[in-house]
This record gives sequence, C-alpha cells and structure tokens, in this order.
Amino acid sequence: MINQLKIELSERAEAGLQRQRRLLQSPQSAHLVADGEPLLSFASNDYLGLANHPALIAAFKAAAVEAGVGGGASHLITGHHQFHHQAEQSLADFIGLPAGLLFSTGYMANMGIVAALMGRDDAIFADKLNHASLNDAALLSRATLHRYAHQDLAQLEKLLKQSTAKRKLVVVDAVFSMDGDFALVPELLVLCEQYDAYLLLDDAHGFGVLGKQGRGILDYFNVQSSRVIYMATLGKAAGVAGAFVGADATIIDYLIQSAKTYIYTTASPPALAAALVKSVEVMRTDAERHQHLQSLIHLFKSELKLKKWQLMPSITAIQPVLVGSNQAALNLSQFLLARGILVPAIRPPTVPKDTARLRVSISAAHSVEDVRQLINALHEAEETL
Ligand SMILES: *Cc1c(COP(=O)(O)O)cnc(C)c1O
Repeated sequence: MINQLKIELSERAEAGLQRQRRLLQSPQSAHLVADGEPLLSFASNDYLGLANHPALIAAFKAAAVEAGVGGGASHLITGHHQFHHQAEQSLADFIGLPAGLLFSTGYMANMGIVAALMGRDDAIFADKLNHASLNDAALLSRATLHRYAHQDLAQLEKLLKQSTAKRKLVVVDAVFSMDGDFALVPELLVLCEQYDAYLLLDDAHGFGVLGKQGRGILDYFNVQSSRVIYMATLGKAAGVAGAFVGADATIIDYLIQSAKTYIYTTASPPALAAALVKSVEVMRTDAERHQHLQSLIHLFKSELKLKKWQLMPSITAIQPVLVGSNQAALNLSQFLLARGILVPAIRPPTVPKDTARLRVSISAAHSVEDVRQLINALHEAEETL
C-alpha cells in the first residue's frame, strides 16, 4: 500500500494539487503570523472575530479551573456537564428553537443526524454544492441519495414527486461555503410540506452572520417549522468549537437515543461549552460587532470595481472573486501574498471546473482600513496580471 500511496502523492504534486499546511504562530485573527510572516488574513471563518475575544478566553479559563480540562466520558455516561446543558439551552433560546443538542463537531453532527433519522427505505435530496459532511452522512445512512443541480428547486420538486421512499429528507447548506449564496428556505419548506419531507439546514456560515444579532438563516427568513432540523457549527462565527442541532423536542430526544456520533464519543471539554455560553452572550449584547461585519461586507461590495474578474453575488461574509482558470487564481493569490494579504485560491474539485476563485472571507475583526487595503490590492492586481 505505501508504494501506491507514494505514487498517488507524487501524481498529485505534479498536477499542482498538493496541499500545504501553514504553521500558525498567533491566535486566529485578522492580523496573524503564519510561517514566520505577519499577514492580513481574509482566510478564516471567524466571522465575528470571537475566536480570540477576551471575554471568551476569560470564560474558558475560569471554566477550566472549575470543571477541569477533559470531558472524561460520553454524554450518556458521566460526561454531560452542566456547562453543556447551559450551552444547549442558550443556543436554542437565541436561535428560537424548541430543543437543542451539542455535538463535538459539525462533521459529526451531520453524520449523526442523517444516519440516525434515515435508513435503507428512505431518500435524501441534496444540493450538488453541499458540504462534504452531508454527502458522507447520506452514504453512511444507506438511504438513496438524489443530488440536484445547485439551487434548482424545479429539479428537486421532480425528484420529490417521483420518490416512493418511506421518509424523505432535503439537506442543504444554508449558506454555500464556496459561493456565499444562501438556500431559499421558504420555498424549500413549501416543497417539504407538499411532499411530506423534512429539511436539514446546515447553517455553518449563516449562524452569527445572517439575521438579527446573527441568529442565523431561520431568523433571516423569519420562518419556524417543525419540519426543520437546524445545524450550526460553533467553530466559525461563534469562535469556539462544536456544533448545535436544534429541532422539535421529539427529534432531539430521538437523536440523544440513537445518533452514534453523539453516543459513542467522549463529551467535549466542558470549558468549551462555557465559552459558547459567553459567545452567545456577546452576540446578544454586542450589537456593534455584528453591525461592523455588515458594514464591512457592504464596503467591500460597493467599493470593489472589477473588470476582468467577477465578485459573486453574496450578502454573507463569504465574498468570492471568480477568476476562472486554476493558474489565474493561483497567480492572484500569490500577488496578494507578496503584499502581505492572505486570501486562499479555491480550485477544483472543491469548486466546479473553470470556476477557480479567491474566497475572501470578511470578519468583524477587520478594520475599514484592512478591507480597503484588500480592495486596492485587487484593483492593482487587475491592472498588473
Ligand atoms: C465547516 C463546515 C462543517 C463542519 O463543521 P466542523 O465543526 O468544522 O466539523 C459542516 N458543514 C459546513 C457547511 C461547513 O462549512
């Protein structure tokens, strides 16, 4: 096997697809140090700048002193600490859902939810641009997987209509991670009602960004439905780690009994949950942080004037610049890096062929000057490259 792996690795390297890890030597923030270089970064999902927030750090430290470091056991044995419980309640309350459950990561939450609720006789309907974890979850569940073209609700309806599956689940990224556009939740819910399906919304990139105070996609559309299973990851805008699943209380009870990635894993450190409680408190009380992010997004969209390349339509913190060819995207990323600005080039297979792009992600940790610096560098790049 090792010889085969070596061959594959060298093929990958020759195709220019080898991935490198940067060594981060500072906290995650707008201005970071990586591989010894100070950089202005537009390359994290820390949309609210909470990953390095003093109040969260203080809450985390105090909770570690009080509760220790390790989770020690799974939730169903002795790992379910009161901090986990508080985080579940404060997140459910903030987002406006009847009940909630914490998972250790978003990847595990998606696997746990889908595999618990769906089986061989069931069908899953998935947008083609969904996150990898939702596709893996569908495979794990053994349900039939139908994938429809990105945001093509006519195709989705056709598939739902034809399906004779016992249970039906539509799964979508609430905000698509490489495009920044969002799912049409009210229209999806109409289809779910009509064809007796449930809707799993993965709000990894909407929670903290969309809606009042960053309450997420449900608040943005002002929808509530017992058909919605809502999932938000907590390592992005919330600045900590883990994932929250909110839904009808019966669904949550069922997941506690049967989601394997919940049951057969050690509870996350309770201090993380205490930091999450603080994160929700900051989102509730620090209105300026959310407003600052919104105004930076607006600034970027209104002041960036591109001719060759194209800013993709997005009102979220993900503002991709569509470049086209892999080499052009890499060149642009290199051009910015030479000016101390880090914006990753995203290439196939992460995005469709000929749609290589720069994934600019904006954070409340940025200043107006930071965003202007990026805009100016992009204008300069268009003149130069
Ligand atoms: C990041 C992400 C996940 C995985 O969440 P983790 O907590 O990082 O494991 C799931 N879905 C989407 C859409 C994501 O962007």
